[in-house]
Amino acid sequence: MKVFKFGGASVKDAEGIKNVFDLLNKVGAEEVLLVISAMGKTTNALEVVIKNYFEKSSAFHASLQEVRKYHNQILLDLFEDEDHEVFFTVNSHLADLEYFLRSNKSPNYNFVYDQVISYGEIVSTTIVSYYLNEKGLKNNWIDVRNFIKTDTNYRDANVDWEQTQKLISKGIKKKTINITQGFIGSDANNFTTTLGREGSDYTAAIFAYCLSAESVTIWKDVPGVMNADPRYFENAVLLNQISYKEAIELAFYGASVIHPKTLQPLQRKEIPLYVKSFINPLLPGTSVSKGEDLEPKTSCFIVKKNQLLLSLSSIDFSFIMEENISEIFSLFHQYKMKVSLIQNSAISFSVCMEDKFENFNELKAILAKKFKVSYNENVSLYTIRHFTKDAAEMVEKDKVVLLKQISRETMQVVTKE
Ligand code: ADP
Ligand code: ASP
Ligand code: MG
Repeated sequence: MKVFKFGGASVKDAEGIKNVFDLLNKVGAEEVLLVISAMGKTTNALEVVIKNYFEKSSAFHASLQEVRKYHNQILLDLFEDEDHEVFFTVNSHLADLEYFLRSNKSPNYNFVYDQVISYGEIVSTTIVSYYLNEKGLKNNWIDVRNFIKTDTNYRDANVDWEQTQKLISKGIKKKTINITQGFIGSDANNFTTTLGREGSDYTAAIFAYCLSAESVTIWKDVPGVMNADPRYFENAVLLNQISYKEAIELAFYGASVIHPKTLQPLQRKEIPLYVKSFINPLLPGTSVSKGEDLEPKTSCFIVKKNQLLLSLSSIDFSFIMEENISEIFSLFHQYKMKVSLIQNSAISFSVCMEDKFENFNELKAILAKKFKVSYNENVSLYTIRHFTKDAAEMVEKDKVVLLKQISRETMQVVTKE
């Protein structure tokens, strides 16, 4: 059995969904589990709905209406008959969402976020499932929340592997086409949780692990994993083969083509991960598997935008040592800051990190009681794996470098744009 993951870009409109059908016919899909994300930029659109809801903004209804209209247009483009059951099913999901928002009493932003954001995936898989059935590709729609169980760390939930394994082993029929949602799960009380933005790749890996699948393929709008994001680097080249270890490093440093949590479960069972183009599905793409570290051997460039460079120094010129550092990290953990680079000297300590959950202002106030705090917002973190002198020069050219760190394999620079 194989696991295929289709991201938002692959199902962003009716043409995309038709292409998924063609792709499945071309590559063959008898015993396959399809993990599908929300369509196009739906997750971002729902984030706007949630923000408007909490801010009691006058734009709330219009933002919700936009999500409705977008999906309705896709339905109209895919199904000729407006009396088709799919219109009713999608509408009833969206009505459930509106009911939740009307009746909700919880002030917990992260909890509400997960209950709302999950409708992107629920609606998207519903539409794709009906469409494939209509075209003769009979499939089984599965609510992933009955299979992937997590803790209650809303917006960044941790998988309960034992329960998830049991439910998947017992409940998933292998000899058919299954369709399910990426990114979402549920807690012990059956409330919806999410695995972190872009988490659908990880969902595919969770299923592959629990089903001991033959392989996972994630279908992308790029030819595979390249040595740089082609949006920011001209002349990016395709990597044919990457080892799990190298792929974990690339994803950790921010190569957003693979969600960083995806690789560990696959590596444990040595399940190969293929990253392929949904536009040219018969091309080989990239294989992440046991074997050569990197083929072709080349420098790899990763850029993370919108980072925060924070420096803390002692107020009284005392050293910043283990005790302070452990306290600082426990605060980072508490405020869900994602740290990607650390550097310290005797009396100061710098980190480059991402404020994914908009907690920095609160954290800053707490840190300022004990340390002298300085920071730059909106900086970029460039990482070069297997760097050369030329590669380093290319990255640093025309930029103001705020911090640099070099290890044997990896060079990182934080720059002001
Ligand atoms: P999905 O539709 O599955 O959510 P993503 O948008 O998350 O897909 O991932 C695909 C995008 O990742 C590409 O469009 C590309 O801009 C970006 N990307 C970042 N780093 C790389 C890389 N090293 N190789 C290929 N693509 C990359
Ligand atoms: N739809 C979710 C997101 O945009 C999950 C995913 O696409 O992987 O973050
Ligand atoms: Mg994505």
